[in-house]
Amino acid sequence: MKVLPNKQYAVIGMGRFGTSVAQSLSKLGFDVLAIDSNQQKVEDVSAWVTHAVTADSTDEDALRSLGLRNFDVVVVAIGADIQASILTTLILKEFGVPQLIVKAQSELHGKVLTKIGADKVVFPERDMGMRVAHHLISPNILEYIELSKDHSIVEIKVPSFAVGKNLKQLDIRAKYKCNVLAIKTGNELNISPLAEDVIRTDDVLVIVGKTEHLSELELDYA
Ligand code: ADP
Repeated sequence: MKVLPNKQYAVIGMGRFGTSVAQSLSKLGFDVLAIDSNQQKVEDVSAWVTHAVTADSTDEDALRSLGLRNFDVVVVAIGADIQASILTTLILKEFGVPQLIVKAQSELHGKVLTKIGADKVVFPERDMGMRVAHHLISPNILEYIELSKDHSIVEIKVPSFAVGKNLKQLDIRAKYKCNVLAIKTGNELNISPLAEDVIRTDDVLVIVGKTEHLSELELDYA
C-alpha cells in the first residue's frame, strides 16, 4: 500500500466547510489541528480530531504559540468574517506556511486572498451550486470543473445514441470544438482515446472545452 507523507494539517474555522475538511482528513488517518474562536465549536469537534483548540486566528502570537509555522498545510475556512479571513491568511503567509488553502465568500474576497499569497482559493458554495445546476440540466453530467473563466471540464455519462459509435462518428471536436480527454469504463480509464475507440453503455466521457461550447454539448447529451 502506498504510504502517504505524514503532513501536518491545520484547519482554522469549524463552520460547515472547515468541519467537513477536518473530519475528512481525520477519517483518512491524518493528524489534524482544528482551531476556532468559538469554544463550543471546538468542543464539538474535539472527539474526532487529533487536537482542537480555542484561539483567535487573527492573533499572531496565539498562532505562533500553537506552532502554526511548522504546519505543512493550513486551511483557512472562515467565510463570513472576511476581515478575519484576510488577516489570518496574511499572518500565515508571513509565517511561511508552504501550502495555504483559503475559503472565499465572494469573487472579490477570492481576488484579495490570491493577491496576498493564498496558494489555493476555494469557493465551496459557488462550485457546489454550479455542479448541482449542471447535474439538474442533465443527470448524465457527473462532474463539472471550472478550469478558468472560459474553460471547463465535464464528466458526462454517455447517452444511448452514442453507444456503439466511435469517437470519429461522434465528432465532438468538430461539432462542439471540445476535446475528449479520456473514456472511463468502470474502473478503467483510457487516457489517450483514439478516433476508432468505441463507446460502450455506461461509459463516461471526460471532455475539456470552452464553457460556452460545453454547454451546447451538455444540452445535446442530456
Ligand atoms: P461555513 O459557511 O463553512 O459554516 P462560517 O464562516 O459560517 O463558515 O464559519 C466560520 C467559522 O470560523 C465559525 O465557526 C467561526 O467561529 C470561526 N471563526 C471566525 N472568525 C475566527 C477567528 N478570527 N479565529 C478563529 N475562528 C474564527
